[in-house]
Amino acid sequence: MPSHDVLIIGAGLAGQRAALAAAQAGATVAIISKVHPVRSHSVAAAGGINAALNPEDTWESHAFDTVKGSDYLGDQDAIEVMCREAPDEILWLEHAGVTFHRNERGNLGTRAFGGASAARTYYVADITGHAILHVLYEQLMKHSDTVDRYEEWFTTDLLQDDDGRCVGAICRNLRDGHLEVFNAKSVILASGGAGQAYRPTTNGLIVTGDGIAQAYRIGARLMDMEMIQYHPTTLAGNGLLITEGARGEGAWLLNAKGERFMEKYAPNKMELASRDVVSRAEQTEINEGNGFPDGTVALDITKVPKRRVLEALREIVNIGRDFAGVDITSEPIHIHPGQHYIMGGVKTDVDGQTTIPGLYAAGEVACVSVHGGNRLGANSLLDTLIFGRRSGEHAAGQSRQMSMPTTRSTRVDDAARHIQEIIDRPSGGRRVAAIKDELGDTLNQYVAVFRDEEGLKKAHEIVRRLKEEAPKASIDDRGAVFNQDVIGAIELGYMLDCAEAIVVGALERKESRGAQFRTDFPERNDEEWLKHIDVTANGDDVPTVSYSPVTITRWEPQERTY
Ligand SMILES: Cc1cc2nc3c(=O)[nH]c(=O)nc-3n(C[C@H](O)[C@H](O)[C@H](O)COP(=O)(O)OP(=O)(O)OC[C@H]3O[C@@H](n4cnc5c(N)ncnc54)[C@H](O)[C@@H]3O)c2cc1C
Repeated sequence: MPSHDVLIIGAGLAGQRAALAAAQAGATVAIISKVHPVRSHSVAAAGGINAALNPEDTWESHAFDTVKGSDYLGDQDAIEVMCREAPDEILWLEHAGVTFHRNERGNLGTRAFGGASAARTYYVADITGHAILHVLYEQLMKHSDTVDRYEEWFTTDLLQDDDGRCVGAICRNLRDGHLEVFNAKSVILASGGAGQAYRPTTNGLIVTGDGIAQAYRIGARLMDMEMIQYHPTTLAGNGLLITEGARGEGAWLLNAKGERFMEKYAPNKMELASRDVVSRAEQTEINEGNGFPDGTVALDITKVPKRRVLEALREIVNIGRDFAGVDITSEPIHIHPGQHYIMGGVKTDVDGQTTIPGLYAAGEVACVSVHGGNRLGANSLLDTLIFGRRSGEHAAGQSRQMSMPTTRSTRVDDAARHIQEIIDRPSGGRRVAAIKDELGDTLNQYVAVFRDEEGLKKAHEIVRRLKEEAPKASIDDRGAVFNQDVIGAIELGYMLDCAEAIVVGALERKESRGAQFRTDFPERNDEEWLKHIDVTANGDDVPTVSYSPVTITRWEPQERTY
């Protein structure tokens, strides 16, 4: 049985940063990923990472922008930690080998991003996630004596001892289908978001909410789950992202009448208001008949000098050409708001500790909460790195004071039985993909930019029905080697758990704040709703809802305008 001080599930930016920190603190580490680590979804991150590193900027200004961006739902102690530690993290990355853009004076250069009062986004063209992920992977190699990498292993369940402490996980080797129990003093979940519960989404096929659901199933508290970010610029139909970097470089948003409509909604920040504000503005234009017949508005990148586009936005030149047949350097491209990010997740403190002893969470799977009701662009990469590192350090520190726990290996028999039951399902039933598509369309229709009670109740009914159908969904592949059908069936269960927590949270919050805009409760209501909504599992029943306070350190809630 593999035994390590720290077991990390997920090898995106949060997981790899946690692994490096734990290894540097002297712990033995296992890091598990269902895909090769550099194919983790962090590789898609485009526009950049925020830090107040410029001498004219301050971490307090970054923190205030983040608090305001969160619509005052972010916990200010956590936001202070993230923004204070950001400059050193950027320098650490630079020294580790990330080739951040440099300006004509040779200094680290920045671009503007939404909701920020200063240009503080550091970037590598529009492949920032790719650049950072590869450097971290390279750094991990240096620790190969203490860090064991389990690439293309899939975690199915988290394990607890008799006292409820998380002491490991059950994982399936995707190459041959065999199951193994991993034993650990601490477990760090770094398994990313849940975007695939929606259709379309900017998130890759692997982003299926596994960690959120696994933690929820063993009793962890989820928080702010109703807060789903719709990114303002995604391609119609396929959800592909056009990075906010385009607007940061000067692109305009136009309706079908050629009007620069953000003048009406955010006269000061225009296209660079926060994402919830811009997405709502676009959707309002589209709903009021000012959009194009394909349900979009236009992003005009021709405002940015062509030379600069080819230097700093070259990936979206390719995306425009290959997926929309548009040369973005010479004509506007049609876009609309699309699902992009989940602000909620497994509730943690600033060291990544969840409500389950021994279980940590970092990155998009977690809710610290630094994003509250709305994440600012380029704050997620920062979140993964700061809280990935802090979780790794804390877990390593704890492991020094502990002996290796023992895990009941009989749990592996339950997991094996569950997989066999999926394989043995009679063929001809409703397929996993059909259920997943219905789930995605439902959330995209009723739990999107605008929501109301009637739609949310309908969404909840559909999710409950799909939860009954999912255990009977049939698969085709009955083999052991790289059986993605089996994995898809398990992931469907995770997405349905996440979906129910999202819908229940959205129904509960009877106000409009950040990404949650209730047309039946259109105002923010601090008196009643300046609090987090926590969701916990309740067997097979509807989840239990409770509340926790928002931490306010120095910024009292104000009216939010851009
Ligand atoms: C197109 C796009 C562009 C973006 N651009 C930016 C940007 O410019 N700036 C910014 O700040 N943010 C950006 N974001 C958001 C940001 O990229 C993500 O929030 C962040 O990278 C998530 O990192 P993570 O480490 O938490 O998870 P991920 O990178 O998603 O990694 C999850 C890991 O968990 C593993 N895993 C999951 N489930 C299992 C399981 N059951 N068993 C084993 N392993 C598992 C996966 O294999 C993977 O290794 C962007 C997001 C998208 C979709």
